[in-house]
Amino acid sequence: QIFMPLNFLGFVYREIRGSMANIDKMFSLLDKSSSVSDAEDAQELTVSKGEIRFEHVSFSYREDRPILKNVSFTIFPGQKVAIVGASGAGKSTLVKLLFRFYDVTAGDISIDGQKIRSVTQQSLRKHLGIVPQDTVLFNDTLIENIRYGDPSADESAIESALETAHLSQFIELLPDKGDTRVGERGLKLSGGEKQRVAIARAVLKNPPIMVFDEATSSLDSGSEQAIMQALSALASNHTSVMIAHRLSTITDADNILVLKNGELAEQGSHHALLAQKGEYARLWTLQQKQED
Ligand code: ADP
Ligand code: MG
Repeated sequence: QIFMPLNFLGFVYREIRGSMANIDKMFSLLDKSSSVSDAEDAQELTVSKGEIRFEHVSFSYREDRPILKNVSFTIFPGQKVAIVGASGAGKSTLVKLLFRFYDVTAGDISIDGQKIRSVTQQSLRKHLGIVPQDTVLFNDTLIENIRYGDPSADESAIESALETAHLSQFIELLPDKGDTRVGERGLKLSGGEKQRVAIARAVLKNPPIMVFDEATSSLDSGSEQAIMQALSALASNHTSVMIAHRLSTITDADNILVLKNGELAEQGSHHALLAQKGEYARLWTLQQKQED
């Protein structure tokens, strides 16, 4: 099921590479079920502060099965916000809605007061960066896969993105260094290495709003710690949204949104949520036991 689409994607990539080196275009191509189109009078999104607002957002992929139910929250400019919840709770769906891969069934999403439905998809995605749950690499060199984040980036910007993603040493060990091809569909890289490539890409793009969807889930806990620290430093002048599987990685978030069965069950700081003894406290205790 996955081979043909990916194979097709490789083809599409080669076709469009010269004309529009834009990673977000790839995402919209990837999402073939997307029926989203620009409004006729769509404006360019302008981002000055980076505030994200969900107002009474509901969504379902199929009519008979609601996935998100009346979700409202605000992510204030520069905040680092975590979204947590059991697998299947709707976390990745929430991100897909922010990128407008789908339109909400009800409610509104806005960035700096502009409804994302009223702006061009291109301008929307220009201001958003993502490290997705599953990274797609192109059959090209490692450096080209990273440069995709910003085709005009110079060597020093690439160097520093590699540092942040902890790829510099890894690259030194490769036969052709950064010019090593990652192979058809990136199969020569481990899951953790692919995630680091995606992190470097996003770091290079350097958008005002960054989203990390379980961005360190394939990493061992040593590299996870190191990369989370680097990402936190990077996030300091951005609005960032971190979807986290391991709660221990997001205890310092400004706000934690807890999704449960498509509803926003709770929100608050790590300490406030623990004191509340609700869903977050339950998940936390569960994970602490697993780690023991
Ligand atoms: P999470 O990221 O919290 O694990 P998701 O947002 O990926 O959860 O998924 C929420 C629910 O939506 C799950 O039940 C999942 O099976 C369903 N879902 C996700 N993507 C699709 C899709 N493209 N079509 C239909 N259902 C989907
Ligand atoms: Mg997910």
